[in-house]
Amino acid sequence: MTARNMVDRLKAGEALLMDGGTGSELQRRGVDVLKGATSMLKAWSATSNIENADVVRQVHQDYLRVGADIIISNNFWTTPSAMERIGLRDRWKDYAKAAADNAVEARAAGNPDAYVAGGIAAPTLHVRTGEDAPDVELMGADAFREEYTEHAELLAEAGTDVILAEYVGFIADCVAAVDACAEAGLPVLLGVRHLHPDGTMQFGESLEDLAAALRGRPVDAALIMCSNPEAASAGLPILANAFDGPVGIYPNIGYNPTGPLANKPNLTNQLPSAGPDILQTESYPPSRLAELAGEWKEMGAQIIGGCCAAGPEHIMAMRPVVKGDR
Ligand SMILES: [Zn+2]
Repeated sequence: MTARNMVDRLKAGEALLMDGGTGSELQRRGVDVLKGATSMLKAWSATSNIENADVVRQVHQDYLRVGADIIISNNFWTTPSAMERIGLRDRWKDYAKAAADNAVEARAAGNPDAYVAGGIAAPTLHVRTGEDAPDVELMGADAFREEYTEHAELLAEAGTDVILAEYVGFIADCVAAVDACAEAGLPVLLGVRHLHPDGTMQFGESLEDLAAALRGRPVDAALIMCSNPEAASAGLPILANAFDGPVGIYPNIGYNPTGPLANKPNLTNQLPSAGPDILQTESYPPSRLAELAGEWKEMGAQIIGGCCAAGPEHIMAMRPVVKGDR
C-alpha cells in the first residue's frame, strides 16, 4: 500500500506524473504485440503479459526510474471481448492477472510509493461492426457491466490502487464504464480517446456533455488520452472547465502502424504505413513534450503522461515540469 492516497493528493492540488505508452514501448523492444492479429489490433499486447513478462516489468520499472508517480498496468485489452478475438477468451483472467502482477511487482521493486492504475480499455466494437454505436449498445448493458466489473475486481484483488477505464469513445460508454469499475471499491479514473483537433470527442459529442453526464458518478479524475497533443490541448480547457474534479492528459505522439493496420484519419500524426516498426515521434521530441506539459499544467492538468509512442525519455523530460523540485 502506498504512503499517500492518490485522490487526496489530487484534491490537494498536486500534479502527478504518469507513465508513457506501454504497448508501443514493448513493440519498440521487439515484443510481438500483435499476436494473433491478421487484421486490426485484436487483443493488442495482452499476450505479452505472460509470454514476455520480464520485458513488461522492465518497461514499468523504466517509467518508475524516470519519475512516474503512476504506472498503468498492461491490461488494456486483457478483456474477455478482446481476448475472444485471438481465441483466448477462456483464459482472459490469466492474462489480466499476469498484467496486474507485472505492474505491482515492478512498483514494489522500482518505487513502492508509486501508484498502479489498472487500465481497462473499451471493447471498441464499432470498429468491428461498422456501426458507430456505443459498446454498451452493441454488446448490451449487462455484458458491458459484467466485463468491466469482473476485470476491475480482479485488478483490485491483485493490488492495483485505482481503476482506469481508458480508451473510451462514447459518452454512454464512459458513464457505464465508471459505474461498473466503481463496483470494485477502488477510486476510478476515466480516459477519453481520440479527440478531434477542435476538442470534440471521437463521435462528435462534446466534453461539456461528457462532464454533465459524469456529474454525481463515481469518477475521481477525467483524462484525455490517446489523442494527438494539439487535439488534447484543445480539449483540456473544455474538460477542465466543465468537469467537477481533477483532470489529466496523456496524449499519443504518434502511432506505430507495424502490422496490418489501416490508416485512421482521427489518429492524427499517423502517416501512411511505410513499413515495419515506424515510431512517428519526429514532431514530438522529449523537449517538445516538456514544453507541452508546462502548458497542460497551466491549463489545470493534474495527471500528465503519454500514450502511444511516448517512451521513458519523454516522461523523463516532463518530470521537472510536472513535479517541480520533487
Ligand atoms: Zn494510445
